[in-house]
Amino acid sequence: MNRTFVICKPDAVERGLVGQILTRFEQKGLKVVAAELRQLDEATLDRHYEEHVGKGFYADLKAFMSRSPAMVMVLEGPEDVYAIVRTMMGATNPAESAPGTIRGDFGTIMTENLVHGSDSNESAAREIGIFFPNL
Ligand code: UDP
Ligand code: MG
Repeated sequence: MNRTFVICKPDAVERGLVGQILTRFEQKGLKVVAAELRQLDEATLDRHYEEHVGKGFYADLKAFMSRSPAMVMVLEGPEDVYAIVRTMMGATNPAESAPGTIRGDFGTIMTENLVHGSDSNESAAREIGIFFPNL
């Protein structure tokens, strides 16, 4: 699988960081094959985050992810490109995301952590199917 699914979350759009985030992926050598600014609805978020539905943080996550538009995109690169994107994103917890990563450089909040990236090839295929079913 040489494609992965990425979201620049509402905080990234609100803060005007989409360009910088996208530039990092392009500088790395990844190609944007689909991108759209989209208001995410609750049903779509429940599908996307199916493994998190019902967890303690999920209500806050859903409210955050649907409060303003997000930039949803598909990136293409070498085999297992999802892993490259995950490394560039940094750890979920801002206390652990290293400087040089997107979350490490731009974020301090666990929920509002700027980016989503698929965590496996299986997740990438599933998530691309949800957001870009015609791709
Ligand atoms: N999240 C949160 N609190 C938590 C764990 C996760 O608010 O304790 C949010 C955070 O925005 C994270 C998303 O839920 O990016 C999905 O969680 P996951 O564990 O899948 O992290 P990711 O794969 O995004 O690094
Ligand atoms: Mg995840």
